[in-house]
Amino acid sequence: MSIVFVISAPSGSGKTTLVRELLREDRSLQFAISVTTRPKRNKEVQGSSYRFVSKKRFQEMIDTDEFLEWADVFGYQYGTPKLVLNDVEQTGKDLLMDIDVQGASSLTDKVSEVVSIFILPPSRHELELRLRNRNSDTEEVIDRRLQEASREIRECTNYDHIVVNDNLDVSLQRIHAIIASERMRSERMSQSIQPILKSFGLNSAVK
Ligand code: ADP
Ligand code: 5GP
Repeated sequence: MSIVFVISAPSGSGKTTLVRELLREDRSLQFAISVTTRPKRNKEVQGSSYRFVSKKRFQEMIDTDEFLEWADVFGYQYGTPKLVLNDVEQTGKDLLMDIDVQGASSLTDKVSEVVSIFILPPSRHELELRLRNRNSDTEEVIDRRLQEASREIRECTNYDHIVVNDNLDVSLQRIHAIIASERMRSERMSQSIQPILKSFGLNSAVK
C-alpha cells in the first residue's frame, strides 16, 4: 500500500523548491496533481503542476464527489482528485501531496496511510525576506501571506513531523530521512521481508 506524504507550509517557506528537488531525487515518489481554479502562472504547464479548470468545472467535480479533499486558499479553489490514490497504487510508488493545512487536516481523517510534514521558515523575518526576494507578489499580497502564515503555523504541532527550512540542502536531507524511516516501519516491511523470514523457516506473523 502506498504511503501518502503530505507537505504543508506557509507561502514563501520554500515548499515548492523542496518538493521539486524531492521528486527529482526520489523516483519512488509520485506527485499528486491537484485541480485548481487559480489562473496558470507563466512557467506552469497544464496538467503538470496543476490541472487548471473553470469554477463551473470545479463545482461539477464537487457535486459528483470526485475530490478526496478540497479547500479555498487565497480566493481560489484547490482540490485533490480521488483518482490520484488509485493511480499511485497501480505504480507501487508513494504519493507526495502539496496541500494547505485545511486539506491536510481533512485528509488525515479519511486516508489511513498519511504521513504529514510541516515546513517551518526559520523566522517571520526570514519568511518576509523570501517572499520579497521571490519578486512575484505585490506589497499587499505579501502582507496577506504573512498574516495567513501565522494562522497556518498555529497548526504545525498537529503534523507528524516538522522541518525547519533554514539551509535548503539540510532540509532536503531531513525530509529524505523522514521518508526513509517511514518506509522502514515494521508494518510496512512485512511483505518485503518474507523471503528472509522464509529462509529461517519462519512464517509471516513473527512477534
Ligand atoms: P513556497 O512554495 O513555500 O511558496 P518557494 O519554494 O517559492 O516557496 O520559495 C520561496 C523563496 O525562498 C524562493 O525564492 C526560494 O528560492 C527561496 N528559498 C527556498 N528555500 C530556501 C532556503 N532554505 N534558504 C533560502 N532561500 C530559500
Ligand atoms: P499555489 O497557488 O501557490 O500553488 O498554492 C497555494 C496553496 O494551495 C498552497 O498552500 C498549496 O499547498 C495549496 N494547495 C495546492 N493544491 C491543493 C489541494 O489539492 N488541496 C488543498 N487543500 N490545498 C492545495
